[in-house]
Amino acid sequence: MHVSGFFRFHNPTAARHESFPEDSLAADPQPGGERADIRYVPAAPFQNIRAPCATVTTQESNQPGVLNLMTVTAEALRELHRIHRQLADLRSRLERGPRQIKAGEASVRKLEAEVQQAKEALQRARVTADEKQLLLKSREDRIEDLRGKLNSANSNVEFQAFKDQIAADEQANLVMQDEVFEALEKIDELNSALQATNESLATVQDETAKIRSRVEGEQDMLNSELQRVQAELVEAEKNLPADIKADYERMAKARGEDALAKVEGDVCGGCYQTLTTQMMNLLYLSRAVFCPSCGAMMYLAEGRGRDE
Ligand SMILES: [Zn+2]
Repeated sequence: MHVSGFFRFHNPTAARHESFPEDSLAADPQPGGERADIRYVPAAPFQNIRAPCATVTTQESNQPGVLNLMTVTAEALRELHRIHRQLADLRSRLERGPRQIKAGEASVRKLEAEVQQAKEALQRARVTADEKQLLLKSREDRIEDLRGKLNSANSNVEFQAFKDQIAADEQANLVMQDEVFEALEKIDELNSALQATNESLATVQDETAKIRSRVEGEQDMLNSELQRVQAELVEAEKNLPADIKADYERMAKARGEDALAKVEGDVCGGCYQTLTTQMMNLLYLSRAVFCPSCGAMMYLAEGRGRDE
């Protein structure tokens, strides 16, 4: 991005160079960091004029990422960065609210399904317990019936057969009683589980309703705040020098708050790249300097600039 800005800036030089093919280009390095004036040096060999960028480079413009002639105050960039950060924060809050509602609704749906499953499991356990209890009862009835028949047995063989049947049914019912007991215990467990799931569902429903009402109340406020800060950005952008604006706008559109970075010590705050002394000097001179590593437009912290 900064490279294209660099070349675009130097295009007029290239055009002039084509009008005077017999001249070569040279630039005066300006130790004071002022505008690098381009002058023509006549009678240089033709092949030396093929690379205008190389011939007009100053010590400064050899630095990658430096638009050495563009100036912008750290104050203007600081303000822009503050506004961009505020916009990013507002946008993330605007997105976060609906996401929280969605997450809450998903939890509610999951718990509703769990409640349904718990109800079905409880229902199945009740049916099983009822069946076992019915079987128990019918065997008890049969035992009573067989006991009544004992006295009316016509033979010892028949008597013994009734007695054996009674013993077998009693044995079967002992097992069945255990099974009924287990089935009733299972019902208790499933009841508790259903109750707990219902309570969780109620809690999550309640929380989700609270989140929804908070988010719905907040969206309007955040949206109007967003509009206000967007207008603030438009105003602040008006303070940018025209020669920087296109590069800045491209960066801001693509990267938002990361288009700008505060210099901490001699390090780019966007990517922690250590800056050269020359880059630091350019920053002190309010030149537009792009980080050679992350490409952000860099600025000095309050109190570090030339006029502060
Ligand atoms: Zn950086």
